Amino acid sequence: MTDKNDSNLSRRDLLRIGGLALLATGCSNYSNAQITPLPTTIRPIRESGMAHVIITADNPSLVRDRAHCTRCGQCHNYCYRSMTAHGFRSSEGRMSCIYCGQCSIQCKPRSITERSEIAEFQAALADPDKIVITTVAPAVRVALGEMFQMPPGSFVEDKTVAALKQLGCDYILDTTFGADLTIMEEASELLHHLERDSGSKYPLFTSCCPAWVRFAELFTPQLVPHISTTKSPILMQGASIKTYFAQQNGLDPKRIFNVAIAPCTAKKAEIKRPGSNTLTDQPGFEGLSEVDLVLTVRELGRLLQETNVDFPNLPNSSFDSLMGRGSGGAMAFGRSGGVMESALRTAYYLVNKENAPLQKDVEMRGEVRTVNWVNPMPFQLIAGVRQDTVDFGGRTIRVAVVETPGSLRGLLDAIEHDGERFDFVEVMACQGGCLGGGGQPYPEQLGDILELIYDRRDAVQLGVDGSAVRLSHENAEVALAYREFFGEPLGEKAKMLLHCR
Ligand code: SF4
Repeated sequence: MTDKNDSNLSRRDLLRIGGLALLATGCSNYSNAQITPLPTTIRPIRESGMAHVIITADNPSLVRDRAHCTRCGQCHNYCYRSMTAHGFRSSEGRMSCIYCGQCSIQCKPRSITERSEIAEFQAALADPDKIVITTVAPAVRVALGEMFQMPPGSFVEDKTVAALKQLGCDYILDTTFGADLTIMEEASELLHHLERDSGSKYPLFTSCCPAWVRFAELFTPQLVPHISTTKSPILMQGASIKTYFAQQNGLDPKRIFNVAIAPCTAKKAEIKRPGSNTLTDQPGFEGLSEVDLVLTVRELGRLLQETNVDFPNLPNSSFDSLMGRGSGGAMAFGRSGGVMESALRTAYYLVNKENAPLQKDVEMRGEVRTVNWVNPMPFQLIAGVRQDTVDFGGRTIRVAVVETPGSLRGLLDAIEHDGERFDFVEVMACQGGCLGGGGQPYPEQLGDILELIYDRRDAVQLGVDGSAVRLSHENAEVALAYREFFGEPLGEKAKMLLHCR
């Protein structure tokens, strides 16, 4: 582990260090960027017998065009390095796809791509019976500009809304509203876990990354009962659009076609996953999907290019109101560590009836420094895992943030073999969290990917810092939604609509 402040290395210097992966820390500066050695047990392609990853015809997220595959092995090496090299074995008995889409980023000949659903989106826009509602995830607005030669890290929220309006969408909403609902429910679930399961061997794991949830189902089934049931932001948003939003705006939910714009290929699978769509269990909503379609940033960018939208010169435009604006805490979902920090802040408030301090002092290498309250979690005692302890008003809880499935190995070994205890753990399948999602624009060079993630992270942090409302529990639109429609977090209605089965 090293630290920019200690070593005086620039970001580019750090990126050049051979054989090392720089893990984004989710903090607003680079002082705590950490480096974790890649596993040394990677087998060469020929030895492992695989020249490419397996993508079956029924893969809901990804497709592979054999004609373009040069059998370079880059996709397989990344996937193998993320999972199998760490001793994880799939219950399916072979290398299994968790739909994260990182192979598509690695695939230079573009043999592997997301399963494109642009045509379905265009058909919905052309259908006069459909009310098309799009929602935009936090990590989209800091990456879409890259597809139009805008500098990496351009914050293009207003232009993204304008572009969707130009395409003909009826309403454009901000997925950060759904993220605030996720925080309200997950923070309440955490408190429940601390109270009820305080003797549990395993911590409560976050649930908003569908690739992580699928990884757990396939590779670490012992963890599945410990994953939060709280829906991810796009599912929250979908369930709210077809119930609360439709009711408030006098819309027929059967006519609504809800499209989530996301940095993620796994979300395409998540919306079809059994147990995700609980709306269909409600009387009057049978057969409806909470989210009808997920488009990646690349798909949206491609559609805008094909329809000659002059994206960089679009006038600025704002999200529609009611479910149109989330807090800074919700914006932080875009980056690794954001879910953890936001949920802890709201849980802290629910316990102490006052907000947690913004910063705290920690001792690093004999020196006291002031850092964010939870992030950037400067200590990396387990490779690839950032961890911290948080004073929770009379009780200290131990939390951790994990990026990429392989990094889970160290945490699991600590829990299962060394008897270490954690209370709350965030897991994201992609490096840097959704900023580095498998549906994000391709880097010009693969070696640029971490640099891109840092630029996007800076832009997200600008959004976090610039938010008029900083914390999920202070979002007036969310409070109104609970008051008028959902009742209490973890209440009967909230459980039915905002939690997976
Ligand atoms: Fe999708 Fe984000 Fe998970 Fe990557 S980290 S698979 S982008 S939810």
